[in-house]
Parts: sequence; C-alpha cells; structure tokens
Amino acid sequence: MSRINILSWIFKKNHEKKRGFDLGRRSKLVAFDMDGTLLNGRVIYFIGERFGFLEEIKSIMRGRIPPLEKSKIIAKHLAGLEAKEILDTIKKIPLMTGALETIDRIKEKGYRMGVISDSYTIATSYLTERLDMDFHMANELEVQQGIVTGRIFTPLGWEQANCSCRRSICKRFFLRKFANSMRVSISNCIAIGDSLADWCMLEEAGIGIAFDPKDQDLAKYADAVVKEKDLTHVLGWILNR
Ligand SMILES: [Zn+2]
Repeated sequence: MSRINILSWIFKKNHEKKRGFDLGRRSKLVAFDMDGTLLNGRVIYFIGERFGFLEEIKSIMRGRIPPLEKSKIIAKHLAGLEAKEILDTIKKIPLMTGALETIDRIKEKGYRMGVISDSYTIATSYLTERLDMDFHMANELEVQQGIVTGRIFTPLGWEQANCSCRRSICKRFFLRKFANSMRVSISNCIAIGDSLADWCMLEEAGIGIAFDPKDQDLAKYADAVVKEKDLTHVLGWILNR
C-alpha cells in the first residue's frame, strides 16, 4: 500500500459493535463526494477567499486544462500557508442542508459510509472524524514544519481501474477498493456526487445519485437525480432498497 493510502485510510474496527451492525443483514456502503455534496460549497473557494486568491482559483477552474494538471496548479497557490490556518478555514464551512439527518439515518441502518473527494485529506479527515464515518480518500497536501509546500500527492487509480477519468483521484477505483475491504458488493454501493469529478463513481456504484448536479452531463451516469439542495432527498434511494 502506498504512503498516501496508509495515511488516508480510516477504518474503525469497532463500528460493527457500536452501530449494531448485523452480519446476517445485507450490508451496504455509501460513498459521498465532499464539495457541494456533504459541504455546502467548495473547500478551495473558501480557502481562496480567506487568503485572497479566490478569483485566480475560479479562473483556473474555468480553464480548459486537464483535471490532473488543474489539481497540481491549484495546490501551488497554497504554498506558504500554515496547515493549521487552512484547517481553521475548513472547520467554518457549513454542512449541506440535511447532511446531519441523512448521516444519522444511514448510521441507524449500520451501513458503511465515507468520503471520496478530489479536494484534500486535511478536509476529508477532519470531516469524516467529525461525522463518525468509516473511510476517506483525497489528494494530500505536502506539509513541512506546519507549512504547505504547494506539492500534492495524487492517489490516481484510473490506470489500475482502466478508467478514462484521468483525474487526480479516480473515484471508481477507490469505491471498488473500499467496497472490497469492507466486503460489500459493488451492487450494494451507493455513490452520491454533484460534479463531473464524480461520474466514474456514479457509474460504478449499484446506485449512483447526482445530487444538485452542477453539470447536466452527470445525469448520464446516474441512476437518480436529486435536484433539491437538501441531502435528505437521497434517503429514499438508500433506505428503501
Ligand atoms: Zn475514474
């Protein structure tokens, strides 16, 4: 396992007990995207606003650069910032409407749950800990003596999954990986995301939900589209199937 996998892999073994997980019951796994799905906004926009380079970030995001290059260029803007200040900014980002209720209802069922994001592990580790989730995966910012260097470790995975996404993180690959490690069949996986960064995870999952989609094309890969900006609307697709 690579360094980033070891660092980012959270698997709490006591969850079975804590959540009354019943091995006789068909288990499921729910993978959330973070920006615009679990969080009401994009982490990089909040950081850009806090440190005065929001317009540069927005202009890069609009640009026609390949997604992997985009992730690397954006990370360079963070060079010199204190990791602690970045984390303080992340902590202030509001959760999506209905997020807490949605997570509580999924927990009641004993399902596995986590975050697969093309943002940063500094955000996903904080969020999954706060929400008591089982796993997370994202790009990792390199930090030396508390200062972000501007380099990132990208988990990739598309080269192994034979996926055409070519992004810094292939969500299809990591959905498969977490499902395998938790012994959940891919048909019992539910993936929820709002942008084209999520398309391969939505296509791969038994049920892919496009939540408040930012791009119409995302619906092509989804089994369900939730247009309301309220996460509780995904529950019907998770709990009753
Ligand atoms: Zn992919």
